[in-house]
Amino acid sequence: MVQDCIFCKIVKKEIPAEIVYEDDHVMAFKDIHPAAPVHLLLIPKKHIPTFFDLTDEDVSIIGRVQLAAARVARQLNLEEKGFRLVSNCKEDAGQLIFHIHYHLLGGRALQWPPG
Ligand code: ADP
Repeated sequence: MVQDCIFCKIVKKEIPAEIVYEDDHVMAFKDIHPAAPVHLLLIPKKHIPTFFDLTDEDVSIIGRVQLAAARVARQLNLEEKGFRLVSNCKEDAGQLIFHIHYHLLGGRALQWPPG
């Protein structure tokens, strides 16, 4: 838990979020500014600012986040058409919240490459 991290506050239920999945290590909730019919954020509950801060002990946590993405996507009937799982790392990628998170986007055909 890091004091001023908005996603740590969501993990601690100190601020509200529309949580769609939660286990001991992972949380998934709706993005407040959805860019697609389905737009969730999946986070490790552990505060890790960026991919550059990952260590060997975080390998299973990141794996759990990706497994949760598939589980949630299946529950939301995205298995046939699929989804995009993307994470922005630092300034050039547009990372605004420095707690690792994956955007899960689906429910429409998505463009590629991103801008
Ligand atoms: P970007 O805004 O460029 O996508 P990030 O990759 O850091 O930057 O993503 C942060 C995401 O978190 C944004 O999509 C934003 O809408 C979302 N967000 C910010 N605050 C909240 C919140 N309280 N609850 C849910 N989603 C949030």
